Amino acid sequence: MTDKVMCSEMVSRQYSFHPGRCLRKGVVEGPDGRMWCTQHDPVAVKERERVREARFNTEMAARKRNTRSAGIEAVLVELESMRDSDQEVGLGLPEGLHIAIDTLRRKQKKGEL
Ligand SMILES: [Zn+2]
Repeated sequence: MTDKVMCSEMVSRQYSFHPGRCLRKGVVEGPDGRMWCTQHDPVAVKERERVREARFNTEMAARKRNTRSAGIEAVLVELESMRDSDQEVGLGLPEGLHIAIDTLRRKQKKGEL
């Protein structure tokens, strides 16, 4: 097998400080004429990186949404507990607070929060 058909990637090897050539066949030609195996093909590497980043961003957005939802739920539960106490023993909470709790629950059910 000639050097030309080997992958151009330099990889670290086990038990060695010196990187060596990837031992796979170069099957994809890069724009500079160098050959790459399917794992080290720069276009494929970039694409895998793009997919990984998109997945990561989606996951982070979902986590952020979940954290926010959990925070809103905790606040609402606390406010509802205060409202219940107000109805039982009369804490003197303003009527507006009761209305606000109902409005927030309605918005939460519609997915607006
Ligand atoms: Zn390779």
